[in-house]
Amino acid sequence: MSLQEYLRAPDERTLEKVLEKAKEIDKELDLFITFSEPGTGKGKLSNVPVSVKDNICTKGIMTTAGSKILEGYIPPFDATCISKLKKEGIGIIGKTAMDEFGFGSFSTNCAYKIPKNPWDRTRTCGGSSGGAGAAAAVLDPHIAIAESTGGSISAPASFTGTVGVTPTYGLVSRYGLIDYANSLDKIGVIGKKVFDTALALSVIAGKDPKDATSFENKGDYLKAIEKEPKGMTIGIPKEYFSEGVDEKIAGKIRDAVNEYEKLGVKTTEVSLPNTKYALSSYYIIAMSESSTNLAKYCGMRYGLQETPKGNFNEYFSEIRAKGFGKEAKRRVILGTYARTAGYRDKYYIKALEARAGVIKDFKEAFKQCDALIAPTMPMIAPKFKDIEALSPLQNYMADILTVAPNLAGIPMISMPCGFEEGMPVGMHLMAGHFQEEKLFTLASAYEKEVKTTEKRPKI
Ligand code: GLN
Repeated sequence: MSLQEYLRAPDERTLEKVLEKAKEIDKELDLFITFSEPGTGKGKLSNVPVSVKDNICTKGIMTTAGSKILEGYIPPFDATCISKLKKEGIGIIGKTAMDEFGFGSFSTNCAYKIPKNPWDRTRTCGGSSGGAGAAAAVLDPHIAIAESTGGSISAPASFTGTVGVTPTYGLVSRYGLIDYANSLDKIGVIGKKVFDTALALSVIAGKDPKDATSFENKGDYLKAIEKEPKGMTIGIPKEYFSEGVDEKIAGKIRDAVNEYEKLGVKTTEVSLPNTKYALSSYYIIAMSESSTNLAKYCGMRYGLQETPKGNFNEYFSEIRAKGFGKEAKRRVILGTYARTAGYRDKYYIKALEARAGVIKDFKEAFKQCDALIAPTMPMIAPKFKDIEALSPLQNYMADILTVAPNLAGIPMISMPCGFEEGMPVGMHLMAGHFQEEKLFTLASAYEKEVKTTEKRPKI
């Protein structure tokens, strides 16, 4: 039963049933770090089963950000997006598996469970919101609340055949989000249908006095999904169809462009020349900010604590060595290095300059079109065994198409546009700041026409 159907005839028992199914599926797919007893409520989303990525604080439910350093942490408060959803009556069924602190593209840098792709268990779910993407693919009705810093909503949406919405930076309050990189983090939503995400975003968006970087600029997303896209213009960024992108995937996006043309949408080629700097700029900025954020987990103020033995320097190092996984340690070292005196100008400042170039490119492009279309990921969900063989740099390369819009803080929707080798292929729609409505109109028109969001993994 889709969310839209459920809302026509809401039923309290659905919550229990979905929770039960989630527990059953979890035995095979490892999607949840924690299950919770959902409360029932009344509102626009009465008893809708919601899962929450484990880096978003939920009152009374363990929240670890996927890290051992936060094992056992039970927040005494809800993140703003969670209190807004609760006011509308949702029930939280659990916290979804993720890469530690969001550090990853495949949900394989996990301190707890490594989620398996419901379309093929030998493949990854994408990261870092892998559990969220897969939960949205297999549970119905369901809304998965997730977070993206450099592509963590789009990547899992692409690999699990779901609809992932990353809103404009600041549209959804970050209060209660365990930070990865503050200038990049965004809370968003993954659902099965465009409608699910439009509805959820309309609940969680808007200014929050507890987050000074939040904005009120909310649109009418439910109205936007009813609109015709006729007369809109889509830009095709040539840099996103070049080397490194699987030709079959690029072909699927071209098919989608043809579908849009049939719907009366105009298309034009555009160029984003600074794309080549986006990946290195993103990783330098993200690592610099994350190494600062991780400094607070020192064994005293936050997270894992023990009775100090010997001197404090040794204690701090021991606790951090024990609590952080390999990728978190790598980011602390690289991020600290990029900001050290002498290297700051060479790396961090240069990365900020490159980011400005990326932002300028998008601004120029949106003078010529309403939205951009590109593949979300350069490949279909890879097999676990192929990921193991990758170097850290090859891992980071997977984000080549998602980091630029994340650096620019523009909104994006990834949705399925076909299948290759039985696996979903994701297309990425991107628009200017606070232009979510345009994305919803385009995504919904495509969904109605091509019906790629109907197909479900067999589970
Ligand atoms: N894969 C990217 C990274 O590792 C993005 C992760 C995210 O958006 N949280 O930083």
